[in-house]
Amino acid sequence: MRLCSACLLGLECRYNGKSNLEKASEQLLQEFRNENIIPVCPEQLGGLPTPRTPSEIQGGMSGEDVLDGRCKVISKNGEDVTPQFIKGAYEVLKIAQSLGIKEYIGVQKSPSCGCGKTYDGTFTKTLIDGDGVTVALLKRNGMSIKIAYN
Ligand code: SF4
Repeated sequence: MRLCSACLLGLECRYNGKSNLEKASEQLLQEFRNENIIPVCPEQLGGLPTPRTPSEIQGGMSGEDVLDGRCKVISKNGEDVTPQFIKGAYEVLKIAQSLGIKEYIGVQKSPSCGCGKTYDGTFTKTLIDGDGVTVALLKRNGMSIKIAYN
């Protein structure tokens, strides 16, 4: 059993009210149909609405830095949404631990579910190396992370 970013499985939970279904591989969708995968959206689990104003980790830093209090996650309209991002990450971890799940399937670029790449905090679509807040927390707790794109 694995957890997966819900938007990748077709749930319309992205900031713009859409999904990332077009990015999902056929293998992932087949596994989902076989009920081996549980969709989660950390931003919703953290209490943010859908649709919502997009947010980025600030200062060219990563989810690791957010967890350690070195930087914040700020929405495009200037709201500090760091508490919601951290809460959502811990809620996903709680689901994983309660079910004994060791693997998470994420996306790229998201300040929550991003694996390996996130935006730099300038809202200019500038990518940098680094993980989102949820992925950073899951890695820290020994989970393996995978991206399942076409
Ligand atoms: S927080 Fe994760 S699951 Fe939710 S919309 Fe963003 S990338 Fe998808």
